[in-house]
Amino acid sequence: MKTARFWHAEGDKARCDLCPHRCLIAEGRTGLCGVRARRGGSLAAEGYGLVSSVNLDPIEKKPLYHFMPGEAILSIGGWGCNFACAFCQNWSISQRVENGGSRYAPEEIVAAAPARGSRGIAYTYNEPLVNAEFVLDCAVRAAEAGLANVLVTNGYVLPEPASELLPLTDALNIDVKSMDDAFYRRHCRGGLQPVLDFAVQAAGAGCHVEITNLVIPGLNDDAQGLEALARWVAEHLGRGAPLHFSAYRPMYKMRAPATPADALERAREIGRRWLDYVYIGNVVSAEGRDTLCPGCGAVLVSRRGYAGEMRGVRNGVCAACGRAADVITSLRRPRPSRSPSPAPGAAP
Ligand code: SF4
Repeated sequence: MKTARFWHAEGDKARCDLCPHRCLIAEGRTGLCGVRARRGGSLAAEGYGLVSSVNLDPIEKKPLYHFMPGEAILSIGGWGCNFACAFCQNWSISQRVENGGSRYAPEEIVAAAPARGSRGIAYTYNEPLVNAEFVLDCAVRAAEAGLANVLVTNGYVLPEPASELLPLTDALNIDVKSMDDAFYRRHCRGGLQPVLDFAVQAAGAGCHVEITNLVIPGLNDDAQGLEALARWVAEHLGRGAPLHFSAYRPMYKMRAPATPADALERAREIGRRWLDYVYIGNVVSAEGRDTLCPGCGAVLVSRRGYAGEMRGVRNGVCAACGRAADVITSLRRPRPSRSPSPAPGAAP
């Protein structure tokens, strides 16, 4: 079993230093995420290499609309989550752990990406950062192979582990569930501020960041809250940072009715007061998916469903008016090399 990183001993227990829960874990027990366990005086990363799902997905499905649009990306998921959202859309893998499932080595994941025609790997579906050791070991090898690393995350992670992962990460979609901390406490078993801090840290590290908000009728769809989110994104990530308003569907423990399309349209109108790129998703609508040039309104990237097509971008600018197109089509950041995490049994 892989020894976890990001923890320290407190008496005969382990204090996990990976996420803001900072679980204090007794021998034989796991933390809240279900994948980090105190075993034999150490902390085991029990989710290491466990893969619940592997797919070649359109990158638009993450959703990422301004990073390699129109491409497919190898997407992998594990088990477990450090949140317990009552409305989780992936609860069957996030709220339980299948320890007997398939395990893969990082080399196998990294080799699978080009073999399946992907220029990168997306760590997604469940919360990838609770299995940070595995993501790190995959990411360092992927970076060395010239592949992109993409995180789809709730952003609930402490700054120190984040500072190891972000230099290897090219793009993130970070879920901001509400601008109300009480919402996080009541419905998610989490907190708001660490998520916002992580988004700022990721942008500061040079990563491409897009934000998603799942709009739930009656819970987080008030105009003030939606505007607070758009304003925060504009002020901390920039006017050009993409914001996605996504439709909720009744799932897991939440029985509120599905988000109607007009509620998403309203959210989009609010968001556009502050931001150049606001999208709606997870709903049957032809509107709100295309990327339009903020300068002249020309279609830069058209989308039907999850299929994206670069139509109006030439040499990185809008073909109609010459304004810079905020769309990344190739890896641009220098890729730092980094040693893989210590071997099992090494001191944390
Ligand atoms: S990563 Fe898991 S074990 Fe560690 S503090 Fe967070 S919930 Fe607890």
